[in-house]
Amino acid sequence: MFQRTAIALARNPVAGRAMRALAARSSLAGRFVGGADVEAAVRTAARLREAHGIRASLFYLGEYVADPQAIEHNVAQAIGACEALAAAGLDAHVSVDPTAIGYMHSDALGQDNAGRIGMAARRAAGAGRDWLVLDMEDAGILDRTCALHRDLLAAGVPAGLTLQARRRRTPEDLAWAIRQRTALRLVKGAFPERALDHAGRARVDQAYLDAASIMLSREARESGFYPVFGTHDDRLAGAIMALARERGWDPDAFEFEMLYGVRPDWQLALRALGYNVRVYLPFGGDWWPYAIRRVGENPRNAWLLARSLTPD
Ligand code: FAD
Repeated sequence: MFQRTAIALARNPVAGRAMRALAARSSLAGRFVGGADVEAAVRTAARLREAHGIRASLFYLGEYVADPQAIEHNVAQAIGACEALAAAGLDAHVSVDPTAIGYMHSDALGQDNAGRIGMAARRAAGAGRDWLVLDMEDAGILDRTCALHRDLLAAGVPAGLTLQARRRRTPEDLAWAIRQRTALRLVKGAFPERALDHAGRARVDQAYLDAASIMLSREARESGFYPVFGTHDDRLAGAIMALARERGWDPDAFEFEMLYGVRPDWQLALRALGYNVRVYLPFGGDWWPYAIRRVGENPRNAWLLARSLTPD
């Protein structure tokens, strides 16, 4: 219920305009956003890599964009991020929302732009784990995002995909993906939809573990599939680590990914245990939809958000 309200607020243009105006006079406490522009975000990524061995995936803030000029701006930012990351000796690794790069305008534009960003990641060839990872948004765009992922892979683009454990269909989507040379990020899912989802937290957690087990299968290991576990849930991560050990997965052959600013203590603990950790690092100014979704995930963030909106 809380999560649904947060999503409605994230998409509400009146609330969005008001919050953006407020944001111009305040700071977001630097908690969830890695920088106002690509240079600042790359500096944050370089600092994390150097100090803690934590990798980053850059995400330019902006989603559900229909205006062609704004779309082109988002695409240019993602391409610029690939280039700047590689120039700094980091993975040319970016995450994009299909609705930010053209799908709100036309599928053809979204496909074309995703190809441009993916090829930029391939050309930039940074520190070795260079991927364009497609975020997964609401159920209305799920089929098109999966189709885009297939098309990008067929075109030789280093494309990864995010799947949501809460969706009942995820094991079927995974069955195809684990046979590909691709990165697959598994998340619980931030866009609940009753008719399509497992009901309740315990069922979603169990679905996450079931999907993780498919991702850590022998078939997946032999195909060059790269599992990414996008979660801050230490209980799930513990079960995944045990499963990976039991199945003979090298800790370097998969990774945990968390949102920048969320559970940094747990990120460091996983690094200390020898696991790959990446942070999803948003940058830019349009942080309202992103921040309010974090509130939906954890109501305690409402306090952080409120504090960051208080003029300095
Ligand atoms: P939870 O059970 O929600 O949380 C586990 C623990 O972490 C709890 O202690 C909780 O308090 C803490 N925690 C979790 N989230 C937060 C937070 N925001 N702030 C503070 N503490 C928190 N969802 C999509 O639908 N599509 C995507 O493409 C997508 N991409 C993602 C990429 C990454 C790298 C990550 C980490 C998440 C992504 N998500 C995405 C969000 C995801 O679906 C969940 O909503 C979110 O990660 C919370 O679930 P959890 O697995 O961390 O478990």
